[in-house]
Amino acid sequence: MTLYRMSNYLIPTLKEEPKEAEVISHKLMLRAGFIRKLASGIYNFLPLGFRVLNKVEKVVREEMDRIGDQEIKMPIIQPKEFWDETGRWDLYGEEMMKIKDRHNREFGLAPTAEEVVTHIIRNEIKSYRQLPITLYQINWKYRDEIRPRFGIMRCREFLMKDAYSFDKDEESAMKSYSLHYEAYCRVIERCGLRYRACEAATGAIGGKSSHEFIVLADTGESQIALCEKCNFASNVELAPAISNYIEDNEPMNQVQEILTPDRKTVEEVSEFLKVKPEKLLKTLIVETEKGFFALLISGDSELNEEKIKKVLETGSIKMASFKDVERITNAPVGFAGPCGLKDIKIIADNSIRGKRNWVTGAQKADTHIINVNLDRDFKVDLFADIRNAKKGDICPECNNNIKIQRGIEVGHVFLLGTKYSRAMNAIYQNENGEDKLIIMGCYGIGVSRIVAASIEQNNDERGIIWPLPIAPFDVIVLPLEKEGLVFDKSIEISKKLTSAGFEVILDDRDYRPGYKFADAELIGIPFQIALGKKFKETGKYELKIRRPKESILLKEEELLNFLKEKYEGIK
Ligand code: ATP
Ligand code: MG
Repeated sequence: MTLYRMSNYLIPTLKEEPKEAEVISHKLMLRAGFIRKLASGIYNFLPLGFRVLNKVEKVVREEMDRIGDQEIKMPIIQPKEFWDETGRWDLYGEEMMKIKDRHNREFGLAPTAEEVVTHIIRNEIKSYRQLPITLYQINWKYRDEIRPRFGIMRCREFLMKDAYSFDKDEESAMKSYSLHYEAYCRVIERCGLRYRACEAATGAIGGKSSHEFIVLADTGESQIALCEKCNFASNVELAPAISNYIEDNEPMNQVQEILTPDRKTVEEVSEFLKVKPEKLLKTLIVETEKGFFALLISGDSELNEEKIKKVLETGSIKMASFKDVERITNAPVGFAGPCGLKDIKIIADNSIRGKRNWVTGAQKADTHIINVNLDRDFKVDLFADIRNAKKGDICPECNNNIKIQRGIEVGHVFLLGTKYSRAMNAIYQNENGEDKLIIMGCYGIGVSRIVAASIEQNNDERGIIWPLPIAPFDVIVLPLEKEGLVFDKSIEISKKLTSAGFEVILDDRDYRPGYKFADAELIGIPFQIALGKKFKETGKYELKIRRPKESILLKEEELLNFLKEKYEGIK
């Protein structure tokens, strides 16, 4: 191991808060000198940032190799013709970065690599004897995101591990899928992150064949429904919404019209009438290829388009135009209600059963009705699950409560089936000499995104707190005097730690102690060893732990043993 010295190591820390950054990971990566922006969504990784990236990469590689995946390297520059075979040149559209060579031939910069890897396999694999096989690479990916943001979290050039499994039948493909699912859990656990594996939308394939790995963080762009007791977790839109209502015992009160001038939205009406949004019954008119429908959900719920499409057995759905809403409800937009609605089917969310005395629109300008009751005042044609899951719903697996949490998607596993092998004719011969399509799975991890996600979860007011396995250095040694015994002993202990296998950086800069400690905390090194007055008095090293914040005095041997114990199973 090399001993690095901070006096000539590139760690350009900033004292000022960078203005362009919205989330904490982006701010801290800039402030701690880990990355620098080159263009929108395109970053340089400086030495510390690159060290962390390499550590995450190493964890990922070890876990892929452990399950027998074979590492390859595919080109970033991919010819258009392969993407045309699957129709994705057009489908990917603007998100793919495109270039032309001097002969005017078109290429895409890899946003992913299903086409190229399927091409490799169709050329090289002939028989069932060669299956199953999984190939993977860790390589730069390019996506011209509409809104690059949050630093390296959603950028246009990022490091991804992408693996592709090839199996002879569904059963074997499911095994490959499970192996990757488990490997992904290990990767994220080893990186020291709190996460949930969530059921995700599978598109055309169906079944439980897609999971997203979501690192829990309030700044995340994904929303998940998760159980507080069991392991259930799902993309919020996919989770069954099972209401936790207790049947109202309220008597059914007298219907009454109330003037609500210009109050149209749930917030406006509930504030004006001093009732909770969950008391409001929203009536939304939608248009499908089967005609118009009125949908009823409570004011604190959100419609779920995919669920409605399934219930109505329709391929497309959109909100009815203002003109249509006015024609159907006989009132300006914002005052629709279920009472007296004619010539339109009413579909209500399951959760509205059993609740009494709703507030609804009155089918009249500037008017609402209170104390509206199901069956007495309006009828429903069909009850179904048509909304997103929300806080307080019932877990479909264990009957406890659901909560909604935000998170960052760091990985995605997907059972593809024959989508690509069919389009690109990737076949093998089975035991009976028959040609069969290969069954595929694909598995992606955002290596660079894990770096940012990790900071979102691990930081305090002083800076980053790296989980041990991915910290850029294990130990930072801080001589608090610039020469003499303290300085010499600092070099000595740094060298000893380095030869014991630890990654050490020595802050040999001529700065005052407070400044050095502030930098050490900002860059998040798990262990600081400070040598100053206390060392001269006791001959002991002061070990400061970044988290939990603690400071202990140790003799040399104790120090080495302490660190060895901390890194057991990591090194
Ligand atoms: P997202 O919903 O965040 O756009 P995605 O579904 O497009 O992600 P995949 O195609 O499944 O992502 O890619 C696999 C992994 O690559 C993601 O789980 C994520 O960790 C990472 N990733 C995707 N897009 C980006 C990006 N723009 N910047 C950084 N990492 C990314
Ligand atoms: Mg995306």
